[in-house]
Amino acid sequence: MATPLPLPAVLPAQLACVACGGDALVSWQRRPTETEVADVVAAEKDRRAERLLLADPDLPPPEFGPLPTADGMTRTVYACGQHAIDLDAAALVHTSSCTAPNPANLPGCDCTPETPPHEPLDDEPMPLPEHWITSA
Ligand SMILES: [Zn+2]
Ligand SMILES: [Zn+2]
Repeated sequence: MATPLPLPAVLPAQLACVACGGDALVSWQRRPTETEVADVVAAEKDRRAERLLLADPDLPPPEFGPLPTADGMTRTVYACGQHAIDLDAAALVHTSSCTAPNPANLPGCDCTPETPPHEPLDDEPMPLPEHWITSA
């Protein structure tokens, strides 16, 4: 029997503004809190325990990678148009303690969002093979 796929992290019920509960129009990312990371790790441990329990004893035991960490983990914050932070801020990843959208700070927030990693531009094109270069 196929293992059911994990539920998507974003459930339709969460697509409401976290400030007023209205329909979400915009979203941005923030780092998970320690509790949220612990929840994810606990859920993963449960899943692994179940896999081990259901594993065929005649086969080698299932192997699991390292447990999830906060690295690269983000949570999506939803807001309606009225509670939206500004566009530049919404493009960044906020800290786990960011209280946005907090009406007192709008359209800003009370954290210093992470600067996105700078993607180095690949401006050095790979040279073509010799026999592809036509001499004019
Ligand atoms: Zn709202
Ligand atoms: Zn923030």
